[in-house]
Amino acid sequence: MPWKLSSEFTFDSAHVITGYDGPCGRLHGHTYRVRMELTSDRLRPSAHVKRAIMVADFKTLKWAKKDVDVGGLDHAYLNDLPDLGDDTTAEVIAAYIHRKTMERVRADLPEGDDGADLRLHVTLWETPDSSCEYWE
Ligand SMILES: [Zn+2]
Repeated sequence: MPWKLSSEFTFDSAHVITGYDGPCGRLHGHTYRVRMELTSDRLRPSAHVKRAIMVADFKTLKWAKKDVDVGGLDHAYLNDLPDLGDDTTAEVIAAYIHRKTMERVRADLPEGDDGADLRLHVTLWETPDSSCEYWE
């Protein structure tokens, strides 16, 4: 894995962990911080450049930073997202971000490229000192 692309950003969202006996069971918000790390054995073209000079477009890794009305997670009520529902823990959100990011990365791959060498590692901070990591 000679290349590792990293990108960090934040998004602000509200959530409630339904059924949680404590403060997390009440509606509240976080400034979530995300670190995306995507490793690759080789370089590829992207949707914006035809030469094989990228692991992926940085903008593909930053999709969640966008407003919820244009497909991101910023200013979302996370419990409204169909794949999350009542279970909006950092663990579930990190796995969700991983799955949705890999769908976007794979959609950008050239014809015949299965992206088998690509590995994504997601770190999600719910607060400045509490984070969850997810990778496959
Ligand atoms: Zn919370």
